[in-house]
Amino acid sequence: MAWGEFELIETCFKPLAISDAALGLTDDGALLPPTDSGRQLVIVKDALVAGVHFLESDPPATIGAKALAVNLSDLAAMGAEPLVYLLALMRPRSFGDEALSDLVAGLASMQERHSLSLIGGDTVATPGPLALSITAVGWAPPSGAVRRSGARPSDKLWVSGTLGDAALGLRLLQKNLALGENAKAYAIDRYRSPQPKTELGRALAGVATAMIDVSDGLVQDAGHLASASGVALVIHGPAIPLWPGFRQVPEMVELALTGGDDYQLLFTAPADATSTLAEIGVRLDETLSCIGEVEAGSGVRVLSAEGEDLTPTRRGWNHAFSDDQE
Ligand code: ADP
Ligand code: MG
Repeated sequence: MAWGEFELIETCFKPLAISDAALGLTDDGALLPPTDSGRQLVIVKDALVAGVHFLESDPPATIGAKALAVNLSDLAAMGAEPLVYLLALMRPRSFGDEALSDLVAGLASMQERHSLSLIGGDTVATPGPLALSITAVGWAPPSGAVRRSGARPSDKLWVSGTLGDAALGLRLLQKNLALGENAKAYAIDRYRSPQPKTELGRALAGVATAMIDVSDGLVQDAGHLASASGVALVIHGPAIPLWPGFRQVPEMVELALTGGDDYQLLFTAPADATSTLAEIGVRLDETLSCIGEVEAGSGVRVLSAEGEDLTPTRRGWNHAFSDDQE
């Protein structure tokens, strides 16, 4: 490691600290100006650890971008507009300066794409694996943040994009599966480089009645939305959007139901919002699929076209050291 801590801040992080609030990273803290707009701030935090949330072998630029992307996905799920973020970097000796500047380049492109500024953080050496923790702040939409709790019976259940791609990518990085080279590359890219749905989340504010980002598996995250709203969710298996090149993969439906790292938005909306949602999808070039409905009751059920119960027993990722994972 050649860069000292202060050199590192000056060389790597200062160029990302474009907001005046950062004070050029020359003071002990950042200063956000007072606002009287009446808008709330949404604040989120997500940590990523090598070997858990990304592979040690992943390109460093994708690690930096992903650390910010997963936080932006949480902001998107509340309909928020990104503003600033703080970064804690836990750096092992083995993660050299070149890797670090690539990681910072990944952060830089993600922050530029989503118009936010680094405003501070901390940098520590660690005897453990590389880890990053980001706290991101955004403006709640003028109509108010979209909560998980607003789903009502008779609403429809929607999801953006396609599901299971990243989980397939992770599987491909761990073992070889019979799949064309382009399809493999696409799946791996979806695992390493999730793209948060910032614009979509903002557009859905005022339309969606409840929303969550799908990070730990569709069924599990749907379960969070269902319990926060006090409703049951019925998902139609055949309606789950799969990427066309993956439809022949035998485990694809299972990956779409329980695999993590999709970073799509799962939301509910009244049945009469369908044409508004179609317009939003066209305007933002996002595929929005109606995958089910909200009913009175509790829990999540996945049904086949014939009405058989397809609900998986393993619902998704759970980081509380439960024995169904890792
Ligand atoms: P202190 O020792 O008072 O905590 P630091 O030396 O850790 O101060 O940080 C000095 C400045 O550099 C602060 O403004 C801090 O926010 C910023 N900084 C340190 N590490 C990072 C980082 N990983 N990302 C962004 N800013 C950082
Ligand atoms: Mg410090």
